[in-house]
Amino acid sequence: MSDMKGKVALITGAASGIGKGIAELYAREGAVVAIADINQQAADATAAAINQAGGKAIGIAMNVTDEAAVNAGTDKVVAEFGHLDILISNAGVQIINPIEQFAFADWKKVLAIHLDGGFLTTKAALKHMYKDDRGGMVIYMGSVHSHEASKLKSAYVAAKHGLLGLARTLAKEGAPHKVRSHVICPGFVRTPLVEKQIPEQAEELGLSGDEVIRNVMLKDTVDGVFTTVEDIAQTALYLARFPSAALTGQSIVVSHGWHMQ
Ligand code: NAD
Repeated sequence: MSDMKGKVALITGAASGIGKGIAELYAREGAVVAIADINQQAADATAAAINQAGGKAIGIAMNVTDEAAVNAGTDKVVAEFGHLDILISNAGVQIINPIEQFAFADWKKVLAIHLDGGFLTTKAALKHMYKDDRGGMVIYMGSVHSHEASKLKSAYVAAKHGLLGLARTLAKEGAPHKVRSHVICPGFVRTPLVEKQIPEQAEELGLSGDEVIRNVMLKDTVDGVFTTVEDIAQTALYLARFPSAALTGQSIVVSHGWHMQ
């Protein structure tokens, strides 16, 4: 198993939820973490808390849809720490509506953050990972919605399916440069992104909040249990530690059996 000590990881959307959980675990394992987020204040606060707990982190203001900001933020991490070993392209949003009511602007926003963000952060990271074939790893935060569809989520489902294509292409192009890629596909995790959806879906579907949780979100799990931030962080740690390219281009579903591959 590769040691995480001294590894440099850039994690987008790391000021909240799943990204923050991965950053905290990586830091506890000895990695240096860059907390990249559109919410600069929250990114700086997350980095400060990690530093206070004895880890090493910096906050990076980054809108993942802005090519100049992505390039500048990534280059800053490398200037500060010398290299970049791991990119976790995790920033994301959710907008729900039936297709016939879905605003084109909302469609473009969801695709831009998930797919353009995945592409731009990858391109910026590869500049450093390909240098001297140093190598590295890119993890995209997919979803069970990389494999399944749900009503009201057309843009999100399309974007999350698209990330599989990007990860698989990178697995092939990156192999000669020792770069691996994966998509982690969580089931529902109770982060702010999901808390916001419970009343929204309740209204759209004419259900109570509890019914949305029981009959929509967790309906197809084997045990009716939410996936946790810690479950996803442990998966991201396992992939980072895995010692060879036997594992690359994979989609790893962590969902209490909601989707089985
Ligand atoms: P969250 O809302 O807790 O965190 C998302 C973070 O992304 C926030 O800090 C936000 O500021 C940041 N962000 C949003 N737009 C950005 C942009 N343009 N540039 C940079 N940062 C931006 O959400 P989360 O649940 O932790 O989601 C993280 C990822 O996990 C997303 O890609 C999401 O689709 C995916 N995911 C979440 C769940 C779930 O159930 N929570 C399930 C499957 C996949």
